[in-house]
Amino acid sequence: MIRKFVLLLAIGGAAAFGAHKLGWVPGLSRLIHPEPAVEVVSPVVASADPEPSAPQPPAVPAPAPVQQKAEHSTRGSVMVLCYHRFENRPKNSMAIQPEEFERQLGELQKAGFSVIPMADFLAWRRGEKDIPEKSCVISIDDGYRSGYEVAWPILKKFGYPFTMFVYTDFMKGQRMAGGQSMSWEELAQMRDAGVDIESHTVSHSDFRAAKRGRTPEQYEKWLRDELAGSKKLIEQKLGILVKCVAYPYGNHNAEARKVAIEAGYEAAFTVYGQRLSYHSPADMLGRYAVEGTKPQIFQSALKMIGGGVSADEGSAVGHTAASSMLTQPMEGEVVTEARPVIKANVATLGAVDPASIEMRISGVGMVPVKFDAENKLVEAVLKEDLREPNYTVILSAKVGGRKIETRWSFSYQKEGAAPPPEPATPVAPTAPAGASVKGKKPKS
Ligand SMILES: [Zn+2]
Repeated sequence: MIRKFVLLLAIGGAAAFGAHKLGWVPGLSRLIHPEPAVEVVSPVVASADPEPSAPQPPAVPAPAPVQQKAEHSTRGSVMVLCYHRFENRPKNSMAIQPEEFERQLGELQKAGFSVIPMADFLAWRRGEKDIPEKSCVISIDDGYRSGYEVAWPILKKFGYPFTMFVYTDFMKGQRMAGGQSMSWEELAQMRDAGVDIESHTVSHSDFRAAKRGRTPEQYEKWLRDELAGSKKLIEQKLGILVKCVAYPYGNHNAEARKVAIEAGYEAAFTVYGQRLSYHSPADMLGRYAVEGTKPQIFQSALKMIGGGVSADEGSAVGHTAASSMLTQPMEGEVVTEARPVIKANVATLGAVDPASIEMRISGVGMVPVKFDAENKLVEAVLKEDLREPNYTVILSAKVGGRKIETRWSFSYQKEGAAPPPEPATPVAPTAPAGASVKGKKPKS
């Protein structure tokens, strides 16, 4: 309790924002009010809002706290981490060992990250408060009990706030519940302790795959049920305001993004790992899916935000799996756009020589690329529409004078056409743990 508290104060101090704004941190007042020992912090919470879960407009200026900044700062980098299950013997890549999880949390601290609540991230994006320049938001997807039983106690040790993205059909007593499902009562306990709870849709279906076989009207209605329906149910069950959604498997398209915003979400998350800034689009905010079997993603995330604690070049790369690189489309994904965005995050490759980057696409040949050096993103510039059902992307670059290569595949299915011969997706919604995806695809 005390540690959490100290951490939040530390964050507040680092950002030098007005003391009154601390009142918005969900759970902070809840943490403080029931405790008798408030005098330590009473100057800070004196003006805390009595209803911390309702964000207040910043219009009412507080009585000039000493360190208040004159203006809201848009500076800052946020990395959002995404976890799923916590198991001593992970059955697949969606689980992480508790010791590894704890080690990663420790590494965040060492690398100088401030772990902030989702509410702070949102408030910053609304221009209502500042955040530390190197911030991290931790999220746990799906609603497995191990999040409650295993991860939560570890997070408590560090005093880190975090977000649970749950899909409502998976909650105990609901349609897709299983032995590992959390109950609404357990979620309520977490809520009471200040844990942020957000939506991961109703049925955890792949939004892109669901478009198949539905008319545009049917598809839109279906999206509304998934997005607005889950939001409403979680709000009713827990008496909270749900502001965020995480797309199942990170998959989205223009329709899904539109319906998400219409449904009232303030932020929608994917699993395309990237550094988030003040200006990142709210309907597709990337998170790093930190899989137990891919520690390099975690390292890459740390480096991306300039917080790397380990040496840069280390590993002897010659060939690297695209699945550890975070690609778009993802390995095995089916795209419907004739000119999809094709990009890869090359941070895991090390110090890439930008001039040496080459991308080839089967059936297309060499394609020009744009390289965003700051975010280590390589993006193809497609000059022609795709026509074939299956594509392989081969990306090569020089790292330390040595050429390395990586490749991944995706399928193209023209809108309304029959499914391609061997799509690697979609995953049946009844297998949220992703066992059937061969551990290839970063999911959420
Ligand atoms: Zn998920």
